[in-house]
Amino acid sequence: MIEVKDKIFKPYLGQPTIEKRVKELGREISKDYRGKDPIIIGVLNGAYIFLSDLSKAIDIPAEISFIKISSYEGDSSTGKVKRLIGLDVELKNRHVLLVEDIVDTGLSMINLLSQVNEKEPASVKTVTLLYKPDALRHNVALDYIGFQIPNKFVVGYGLDYDGFGRNIPEIYQLST
Ligand code: 5GP
Repeated sequence: MIEVKDKIFKPYLGQPTIEKRVKELGREISKDYRGKDPIIIGVLNGAYIFLSDLSKAIDIPAEISFIKISSYEGDSSTGKVKRLIGLDVELKNRHVLLVEDIVDTGLSMINLLSQVNEKEPASVKTVTLLYKPDALRHNVALDYIGFQIPNKFVVGYGLDYDGFGRNIPEIYQLST
């Protein structure tokens, strides 16, 4: 058990489990994108550790970039999505891979996809480390999924609770 701010979390996905799955995703993406020189865009802040590990498991030439968008405050969705910021690369005719830490309601991903599609890329696919099918409220295409998880709040491996817990190397689940 660990404490992050005022909440108690229990171990959920350990380092070997995460590492194994991230390597599998890297291999799959490398196979699918060989010869396409994709641009891989991580969504900050949550995806920074996942994209760091995933990018090392991808063995084809790929451009790496980051954008920022936020829909969460504390531990419940505000339902509000801000526009993406920091997109300083040309996406026209590029193969884009959007990398998220977690898809919950799907609102952030829907929003990201529509804004990226406005830039006329050759293709757009999505990668998420975690996916909560029971929380999904928007019809969003997820192309690569690390783990399907129950509708419970998680922290660690880049994911925060109110700004804290991102640096925990494994994934912990809110203990109820
Ligand atoms: P969505 O727009 O799909 O509802 O939410 C996506 C965003 O909400 C994620 O990028 C993440 O920042 C946040 N989020 C959703 N579920 C969780 C969770 O269980 N833990 C943490 N730390 N963030 C979450």
